[in-house]
Amino acid sequence: MSPLVDIHTHQPHPSSEGKEVVCLDITELHQTHHGDFDEICHAMEGSGAYVSLGIHPWNAGLDDTAKFMDCLQAVIKNCPNILLIGEAGLDKSRPVDFSLQEEVFRQQVVLSEICRKPMVIHCVRAFDDLLRIRKALHPFQRWIVHGFRGKPQQAEQLLRAGMDISLGERFHPDVPHVVPLDRLWVETDMGKTTISSVYSAIIEALGIHLDLLVDSVYRRFIQLTENCDLSTHTQSSL
Ligand SMILES: [Zn+2]
Repeated sequence: MSPLVDIHTHQPHPSSEGKEVVCLDITELHQTHHGDFDEICHAMEGSGAYVSLGIHPWNAGLDDTAKFMDCLQAVIKNCPNILLIGEAGLDKSRPVDFSLQEEVFRQQVVLSEICRKPMVIHCVRAFDDLLRIRKALHPFQRWIVHGFRGKPQQAEQLLRAGMDISLGERFHPDVPHVVPLDRLWVETDMGKTTISSVYSAIIEALGIHLDLLVDSVYRRFIQLTENCDLSTHTQSSL
């Protein structure tokens, strides 16, 4: 069996041997390292894992977004272990100006297209807006809606629009049935659960053998990492 991939986590697990994508936020890195670009890149590469890097919608209302976007673009250009852009997205449960959230999200979509890296998306109570933006921007890159807890009908809507779905600790038990195996991802996010228990919950819901899901996610993960290794070539267009 292939290794278990965790496509979105905020807590690095050294035992995962790099089969996880650790999510970091450029606004927080910028603050921790006092805006020192070399230090930020050093911290990224020192993490020893693949990384998704972006601006979370909760941080979209900060002053001087342009500074963070410039930094994000520069770090992506220089750090070869960045696999995904995000988490980025929309969240109507938070008191962050929605038009600002949308603007910061759209900028990251453009960046994802330019640097040819897929997106990991955080979306809360804003699926109509997400669909509207996707329709308007026609992105070529894969969009992975992470931590999906909605109903099967909503999952089907996202799938029809071309998005992938990632499931974590909590999900509607009927959702795994409507997501084609080759568009389903698995994550731990902020949860205390292990990645193996999330895989187990999904295969239990589906009634399939663990290998089928694990191999499918791993195959796609390897494809992402191969694109990542080509990044020195594609990033020259940034
Ligand atoms: Zn997250």
